[in-house]
Amino acid sequence: MTNFKAHILRCGRTLWSDCLSGLADCIFPPFCLVCEKGLEERDHLVCGRCWSGFEIIDRPVCEVCGAPLPKGERRCPACRGKGFSFSGVRAAYSYSADIRKIIHAFKFGRKISLAKRLGRILAFVLLQDERFRQAECMVAVPLHVSRQRERGYNQSELLAQAVCAELGMKLVKDALVRRKRTKPQTALAPRRRTRNVEKAFRVTDASGIVDRKVVLVDDVFTTGATVDACAKALRRAGAVDVVVLTVTRAT
Ligand SMILES: [Zn+2]
Ligand SMILES: [Zn+2]
Repeated sequence: MTNFKAHILRCGRTLWSDCLSGLADCIFPPFCLVCEKGLEERDHLVCGRCWSGFEIIDRPVCEVCGAPLPKGERRCPACRGKGFSFSGVRAAYSYSADIRKIIHAFKFGRKISLAKRLGRILAFVLLQDERFRQAECMVAVPLHVSRQRERGYNQSELLAQAVCAELGMKLVKDALVRRKRTKPQTALAPRRRTRNVEKAFRVTDASGIVDRKVVLVDDVFTTGATVDACAKALRRAGAVDVVVLTVTRAT
């Protein structure tokens, strides 16, 4: 099958499923993705009570990995003596079963309109940290081309687009590519994750990032292996600093 024909078929399926979901919304009023209670007219996909119930990560956090810390400490035990290619991480929310539902719907359930609200939250988080405010451009963690074709979108790029739209920042697209179709990190033990993503990323066009401070955007931070591999590729290609912004992090 030609790529063009496959693309037309994919678009057709997408349009058809969008029509069906629009019809279903007319017959059955929509429910909150998280608590499954009926949504008010002003709510979109998630009710206001669920949004306000998510646990925001406030300071203090580890200056390297962004993990919440007891007051007065600057680095978590895991980051002492450990070198990452990024210099800081900020996540909006602690990981929970409810946040997982949002990420899951956004990433695998085509609920891409969540990007706007999540982007606004990430923009707020970015503005809280001096190192992030100094950044000059944004890069999203890329998917392998075959995975992006299957999914139809890259959720991290949608997030980065939404943050850039909020802040008037420059999104550098297609600079960083994933050249290996890696196994999902969640399917691997933490010690195997670094190996899985090692050398998986490459900068193909450094013009937008060279000599710049970069914010790297992803949906979830767990061990940091994926964003570290991306940051390493960006630094090697000439970025002067890389900081990482995610919706949630496993604490
Ligand atoms: Zn709810
Ligand atoms: Zn740390």
